[in-house]
Amino acid sequence: MNDFFRMSGVVVDAGHGGNDPGAVNGNIKEKDLTLEVSQYMYDRFKELGIPVTLTRNSDETLARNERVSRILNAYGNNPEVVVVSNHINAGGSDISNYEELNLINF
Ligand SMILES: [Zn+2]
Repeated sequence: MNDFFRMSGVVVDAGHGGNDPGAVNGNIKEKDLTLEVSQYMYDRFKELGIPVTLTRNSDETLARNERVSRILNAYGNNPEVVVVSNHINAGGSDISNYEELNLINF
């Protein structure tokens, strides 16, 4: 790492999971895509020698408080932790299609 930003680790969050599929189009489910993307990111961070943790590594249902707990417990609750939450939203101009963003303040 450089002198400008010290980082304890990266927490990669695969959005949705288990009985929460996220956006669905036929057989395509957001939860599967977010897991695939997250596992890829996990592997790449590992290859680069960057400490990394996944919030889930299978098709697991995560309650919101459990997800947040895993994020906070991965490398501690401090500003040196980077959290990436992957979502692949359904598109369209309908204003009702939105994703809720949960900000965790450190
Ligand atoms: Zn989503």
